[in-house]
Amino acid sequence: MGLLIYLNGKYVTEEEAKISVFDHGLLYGDGVFEGLRSYNGKIFKLDEHLLRLYNSAKAISLEIPLKFEEFKKAVIETVRKNNLKDSYIRIVVTRGVGDLGLDPRKCKKPTIFIIASKIQLYPESLYEKGIDVVTVPTRRNMSETLNPAIKSLNYLNNILAKIEANNSGATEGLILNQFGYVSECTGENIFIIKKNKLITPPISAGALPGITREVVINIGDKIGLEVKEENITRYDIFISDECFLTGTAAEIVPVVKVDGRIIGDGKPGKITLKIRDEFHKIIEEEGIPIYE
Ligand code: PMP
Repeated sequence: MGLLIYLNGKYVTEEEAKISVFDHGLLYGDGVFEGLRSYNGKIFKLDEHLLRLYNSAKAISLEIPLKFEEFKKAVIETVRKNNLKDSYIRIVVTRGVGDLGLDPRKCKKPTIFIIASKIQLYPESLYEKGIDVVTVPTRRNMSETLNPAIKSLNYLNNILAKIEANNSGATEGLILNQFGYVSECTGENIFIIKKNKLITPPISAGALPGITREVVINIGDKIGLEVKEENITRYDIFISDECFLTGTAAEIVPVVKVDGRIIGDGKPGKITLKIRDEFHKIIEEEGIPIYE
């Protein structure tokens, strides 16, 4: 049986879930999105994801025609209608249908859709072995042009970086900002561990304020690491003891090689695995119940 998709207030089949070729989300990447997960019948960090969605929308002057609580209900209902316990949920809000000019004032009603499905970014074996990452030539968008803190539908910067990582045969691409500092990977935040320090680039370096990033920062505090948000260079990664990526879809992925340099002893690090364990405990415990 196919999926039931929320589209502008209705639940429709995959075949019926069509949007106009005049939608500015498609024509111009004018819109915002979120990716969430549910674990064991509970949606993880639903409020946090919706808050980021509303913030992204605000930053591009897009007024979401649903109240926060209504949106929350629609997300829960979409997962429920698809009978999913463990799912990946995609929320998209576009500027809506306009004409062929880019002026958003011509778009009278935002398009909203929610898809509840499944995702597996990497095979299980990569979580056990760790992944290799290369620095890509494409630099991060400058905050003054298109702020990477906005989770907008305009993802070409990330896609170009992904293409470059693919071309060099690596699993992920590391993106530097215009100053040469590390921002993040194509769809994940990055962390390094050096002695007792857990370090991740600040949002101002061109990183998305990741929800998993926040969870990991709190885990770091809890297990007694010194957590720092500070600018890092490729060199800092090369000489780190451990490195890993975080994201809703990817969860926590150990990195064992960066630009040909082996990180630590070339195996997923002990602290990384401890953080992963803590993360798994949290996703089991927390979340908004879908079936109540
Ligand atoms: N950076 C980028 C560019 C992303 O697209 C994502 C995935 N949404 C992340 C980081 C990780 O964020 P989160 O933990 O909220 O999924």
